Amino acid sequence: MGADLIMHNCVFPLGDPGHDALAVGCGRIKAVGNQRDVFRLRHEDTEVVDLSGRALLPGLFDAHTHFMQTGLELTYFADLTTARSLPEALDIMAAAARDRPGQWVVGRGWDESRWPERRYLERQDLDRAIPRQPCCAVRVDGHLVSCNTLGLAHCKAPEGELVDRARGQLREAPAWDLLAGIRLEVDQQVEALAEASRHAAALGITSVAEMGGGGSFKAYQAAHRRGLLQTRAFLYLPGESVEALSSLGMERGFGDEKLRLAGLKVFLDGSVGAASAALMEPYTSGTGRGSLLVEGGELAKLWRAAGQADLQLAVHAIGDRAIETALGAASAAGSVKEERHRLEHLELATPEQLDRMAQLGLVASMQPNFVANWSGRGGMYESRVGPERDARIDPHAWVLERGIPLAFGSDGMPMGPLAGIAAVLQPPHEPQRVGLEDALRAYTSGAAYAVFAEQELGSLTEGLRADLVVLSGDPRTEPGEQIRVDMTFLGGRRVFEHR
Ligand SMILES: [Zn+2]
Repeated sequence: MGADLIMHNCVFPLGDPGHDALAVGCGRIKAVGNQRDVFRLRHEDTEVVDLSGRALLPGLFDAHTHFMQTGLELTYFADLTTARSLPEALDIMAAAARDRPGQWVVGRGWDESRWPERRYLERQDLDRAIPRQPCCAVRVDGHLVSCNTLGLAHCKAPEGELVDRARGQLREAPAWDLLAGIRLEVDQQVEALAEASRHAAALGITSVAEMGGGGSFKAYQAAHRRGLLQTRAFLYLPGESVEALSSLGMERGFGDEKLRLAGLKVFLDGSVGAASAALMEPYTSGTGRGSLLVEGGELAKLWRAAGQADLQLAVHAIGDRAIETALGAASAAGSVKEERHRLEHLELATPEQLDRMAQLGLVASMQPNFVANWSGRGGMYESRVGPERDARIDPHAWVLERGIPLAFGSDGMPMGPLAGIAAVLQPPHEPQRVGLEDALRAYTSGAAYAVFAEQELGSLTEGLRADLVVLSGDPRTEPGEQIRVDMTFLGGRRVFEHR
């Protein structure tokens, strides 16, 4: 059998410098090598593409994102990421309310650390902007939701650390419960996924690990059935589902090459931005030490159950106290390397904690774009935890030094692997630094390893699925900001082409 597609005259930033061509057949990589050898697979119907020196990479894999959420932002939710001030955010919300009379208005992505006001959105602000419809606005990190009075009426949780009715602010579970209660039609969700998928392809992303959207799997299946899912999606279900899944014998890997069960997501703490990540030492912004959402003993029990059921855990742990709890639970549960349990974010991991993480064989799932978003002088990290902790936050270099498997993702803030990679090549602090090759691997083979798919995806190896991305230049020699995605292929099929 010959090749359906041959791309030649290309460079492989992650491959052999002597190679300059790649052949695709039946959706898989048939050959990688020099032009002369690869052209032996050419027949009369083979499409031949001259890449004129451009770079060819495995399709990028966002190892931690909120894909449905991204789709909803692109279609249904008001986008607050562009708001440069608090009044501007309110204007965007008010415009969305006029578009949907009588309906819920949901805004997403506000970030007060970029505003001159430097304060969170409050109930009174939203009441002024949207007096007659329920509305809520999700902070960029997803851990804080501000509501107007009508929106707040839908919150059933009692007043307390996570529910501040006076300010209309909900954190963690009460916030997510409120959002989950805003029911969108399946068709609206399918449209959101289709849009997220188009957006991902334009960014060179061919696979994602979906870390949210527990209630959206019906839509995922519908989108897949209707051929609208142009991205491979690895789904993480809420941790509470462990018993149901294990009693049914549902294990990781259930599904097909497009849509697959990967494991379970567990939240141990909140975020630095919302001052809810669980820290050893208090926040310098004077708001306590954050809180643990799951107790160590309870987590160890879940860890054991997940291991026995062949379900991988993805444990959200940002503060050093949350990371400590995760490591303690992993040890107590007898976690082994073969289970590849993951710790998500790891923002304030200490060198000593990372030593133990390496021994336990856990996978580090980190977000290089966080560095660009929040680290450095005058950034959000510094304002919450002070310059000393800012200087060692997001320590990718320490992770790599210890040989811990590293997967990169965006957490949907926003998606965009090339921007994330650019941020860690020249970061404000040394522990954040990653070389180009390591960064590209973390966004390809590293991410594939993190979902047990490295035999199938993530590298340009004969026999693997032909998920490919062509960049406009060679990232090893050209400045990152000038490079864009030119073409994206999923299983050998072109799903994006820059025009
Ligand atoms: Zn997340």
